[in-house]
Amino acid sequence: MDASSIRPPIKARRDSHICDLRNSDMVSLPEELIEAILRYVQHTGSTAEFWACLRTCQQWHRIGLGLHRALDVAVCTTIESTSRRMDFEFELDRSDIKLVTDFELGFSKLFTSMLRSLTVHIVHSRIKALFRPVRGKNLIDSLITSFAVADQLTTFSFKFADEGWDFPSMDVPAFPASRLADMVAALPETVVNLEIDTAGTDITLSDSSLEKRPNRHLCHQIANIFPRLEYLRLRVGHVCKTLMPVPPDMSRDNPTPTACSLCGRDDRSGCSIARSWNMRQIVVYIPWGFKNHDLSFTQTMQPFLLLHPPHPSFVIIHQDDWAYPSRMSITSPTSSPYTNFSMTTHSNLLRPDTITGYINWLPPSSPPQPPSHPLKPTHSPTRYLTPTRQSTPRTTHPYLTTWTLESSTRWTQLHHLGPRHPIALASTPTSPFHHPPDLHVLKDHPNPHHIHWAFAHAPAASTSPAFQASFLRAADDDDDDDTQDEMLLYPCLFPACRERCEDIEHLLGHVVYRHPDRPHRGSWFGRVGCAFVGCDRIGSRGFGGREELEGHLRGHGWVGG
Ligand SMILES: [Zn+2]
Ligand SMILES: [Zn+2]
Ligand SMILES: [Zn+2]
Ligand SMILES: [Zn+2]
Repeated sequence: MDASSIRPPIKARRDSHICDLRNSDMVSLPEELIEAILRYVQHTGSTAEFWACLRTCQQWHRIGLGLHRALDVAVCTTIESTSRRMDFEFELDRSDIKLVTDFELGFSKLFTSMLRSLTVHIVHSRIKALFRPVRGKNLIDSLITSFAVADQLTTFSFKFADEGWDFPSMDVPAFPASRLADMVAALPETVVNLEIDTAGTDITLSDSSLEKRPNRHLCHQIANIFPRLEYLRLRVGHVCKTLMPVPPDMSRDNPTPTACSLCGRDDRSGCSIARSWNMRQIVVYIPWGFKNHDLSFTQTMQPFLLLHPPHPSFVIIHQDDWAYPSRMSITSPTSSPYTNFSMTTHSNLLRPDTITGYINWLPPSSPPQPPSHPLKPTHSPTRYLTPTRQSTPRTTHPYLTTWTLESSTRWTQLHHLGPRHPIALASTPTSPFHHPPDLHVLKDHPNPHHIHWAFAHAPAASTSPAFQASFLRAADDDDDDDTQDEMLLYPCLFPACRERCEDIEHLLGHVVYRHPDRPHRGSWFGRVGCAFVGCDRIGSRGFGGREELEGHLRGHGWVGG
């Protein structure tokens, strides 16, 4: 089979915004021109626009994959529902919650079967430009269908966007936690790196439902695959002791005089259990309010928080609401948990770190105001976070606090919505995500290591000369080889900023002094930022005049004046 035999991943529909070009003159365009068009979209458009172009036809799909160069994919998708998170305390009947989405992986079976890493970044319509749901599509069911083919996938990340889910309100689509359990149950057996981050906003099941229906219990499904996992990052609405497959007598932690074969110290009960796993890093956020009613997970983790290297790193992050210390969950009481809060890291390897934060309810002080909008883009207070022990500097960018809390165990991304990998894999030479630190080495070996690695492990059908040629030709273009060492640094995630810092303190200083702290409100050196959270027309990419801004806002569906 050669690359031209890839079946079209989707049939063009009459109502689709993707044109059916197969019968038009464009089908006879020279490949060089198609490549130039795709390269332009790749460099100037969004990730979603680039992948939408690849669904045009077989030829565009093949050429586009050559430009993409790698076997990892990050897609951004929108979900919406008339069921709102704030209206639920527990998940009762999930069939009541109808979610619509525009999710469409739409790759050829061949590419899906070769994928090593998949990141699904999730937003909702209030923090997104125009949203066109695809009729009959269901996000989790579509993912499960893709998993059935993705039999080389090792890394899967399911991440709700940093802003707009847990703040400023719970007026966001209701997402049932049991669907997360379905998703984990369907993961390919090859997945060993897993991130699920709903910002804690998924609707959890009540304790009695969890007992009655273990298959819908996310902890139960993760526990089933726990022994094979190497990296786990979890920030969801519920965790309990079921997550960790440990014997019931683990709490009696009596060191024995025999030395642990891994750490060389007295063999603790945690030592032998940890040695039987493949786990290298586990990061779990304790959901809001759980310290007031469910300590079972925290207690199960205690023996592991005593282990020394080279045992894996165990990290738990507590979230405390100081305005309502007796808070029971993210929705009880209904006020935001971020009014006055802190988050603290407890770990066997990382130094303890605390970040604090609060909400500034005051309206922005300096005009111009963002125009009024039927979708209420930013008519909200500002959440300030202080990632250091001092009271300054403060920031509004949540990723800075996440990286502070998780330190070297953080999962990172190169750009907004870009590929996301466990950072530690970047330094493992046998990993598909290996990034050599020395650029000169790259210049001598223009084909990135992970592409060679991919071919060495790819099924015979995908190593056809035509398919390889499209990858290798793209790999020979070294115009952006300077991206190869980015994962070793802390990149600034402000749109269009290419700054990379050696440590989190420098990055924090850079963000505080070089970028606006309320980028979607007010102006920055005379340029007004777009009012939509999630839009990249902010900071120096903002608008010089009101007319220009309003023209852009109409593109978001704004109809005000
Ligand atoms: Zn549980
Ligand atoms: Zn040990
Ligand atoms: Zn920057
Ligand atoms: Zn915008």
